[in-house]
Amino acid sequence: MKEHYDVAIIGGGIIGHSISYYLNKSGVRAVVLDKQVSGQKATKAAAGMLGVHTEHQASDAYHQFCEKSRDLYQSLWKELHELTAIDIGLSPFGMMEVAMDETHKRELLEKKHAFASLEWLKAKQVREKVPALPPGVSGALFMTKDGHVEPTVTCEALKRAALLYGGDLLENTNVLEVTKTEGIFTVQLENASITASQVVAASGADSGRWFEATGMDNPIKAVKGECFSIKPRKHYFKEALFFKDFYIVPKPDGRYIVGATSKPDDLSSGTTAGGLADLMSRVFAVFPELKEEPMQEFWSGVRPGSADGLPIIGEHPTLTGFYFATGHYRNGILLAPATGQMMKDLIMKQDVHQAFRELFSPERLDRKGASSYEYST
Ligand SMILES: Cc1cc2nc3c(=O)[nH]c(=O)nc-3n(C[C@H](O)[C@H](O)[C@H](O)COP(=O)(O)OP(=O)(O)OC[C@H]3O[C@@H](n4cnc5c(N)ncnc54)[C@H](O)[C@@H]3O)c2cc1C
Repeated sequence: MKEHYDVAIIGGGIIGHSISYYLNKSGVRAVVLDKQVSGQKATKAAAGMLGVHTEHQASDAYHQFCEKSRDLYQSLWKELHELTAIDIGLSPFGMMEVAMDETHKRELLEKKHAFASLEWLKAKQVREKVPALPPGVSGALFMTKDGHVEPTVTCEALKRAALLYGGDLLENTNVLEVTKTEGIFTVQLENASITASQVVAASGADSGRWFEATGMDNPIKAVKGECFSIKPRKHYFKEALFFKDFYIVPKPDGRYIVGATSKPDDLSSGTTAGGLADLMSRVFAVFPELKEEPMQEFWSGVRPGSADGLPIIGEHPTLTGFYFATGHYRNGILLAPATGQMMKDLIMKQDVHQAFRELFSPERLDRKGASSYEYST
């Protein structure tokens, strides 16, 4: 542990480690600080989908940022493998958003108009790809580039690569307070303190306290999610399947991850029987065969949402040198590379696309006042 760092990053989820990776790679000495073993919170709970098009109805700046991040995964996959010998499990098989009724089909066909690169599959074509689907399926949007990664493995690879580039990591150390004197931040840990020229709050669903501590309203909205996995004895499909109220993501090791419930304002840990039962009933209504497959695990995590539903990536409006990188809600895995790169550019005073700068700026939260994005259950 050094006494002084260029940048101290509070939070070692996928966002904090991605920022550390891009900074250290560029010669900026960054340390990640985590109150527990890093990578164990929302990042560990994620299915890892790079769902650019499941999240968007129209092509806008946010969609461009999502695409940019998904595309960065191609080079990141190779770079991380070369550096760490870790394979982050980038799936080449794409995603399908499946319509089980005519209303959803109409919505998906509208989406197809907005995104020329997406392919519409008729019911017969969908069933050829996924024979386990019932005859009642109405069609699907095929998103060939929107795959998925292994979130925990990706976080670990980013962590190790940042360390190889000269970064540092302090785990099991709660960050208690940050103060600024004569242009330098003092970061108070449980049993020590360090100084840093700049600080990034990337503390996931716990980020709210850093807004409050720096004189802003807390915009963080916690949205709990529960998942389970099965390990079928036979292979059903290779694409990630996204439905109106659940998804299934087949992983290279044979696990199928099924998610997820959505419980706004719930910061509790642990998985509820009712949450799982609800999720299972949705899945088995479409895939009754899966009932007979071996259950593997169940878990939960808390997504870091924000007041207006968008990530918060940028410098504090008045506290120069203090940055936020949080509020990624259910897209933190998808957005980790672009967030890491954007934070590196902001900190190094390099060019950042103006539309991204404005869209994600912490300042917008003050401007909008009580902006309210409704997180559905
Ligand atoms: C069930 C579920 C499924 C999901 N599926 C997907 C998906 O398929 N695709 C996708 O893109 N996203 C998905 N997400 C969302 C994604 O997991 C999150 O957006 C992402 O992990 C957020 O990363 P983070 O680094 O901001 O937060 P976290 O991973 O929560 O990390 C924050 C870290 O900060 C640390 N910390 C907090 N406070 C302090 C402090 N005071 N001092 C020191 N350390 C501190 C915590 O210990 C933690 O390690 C899913 C989320 C859930 C819950």
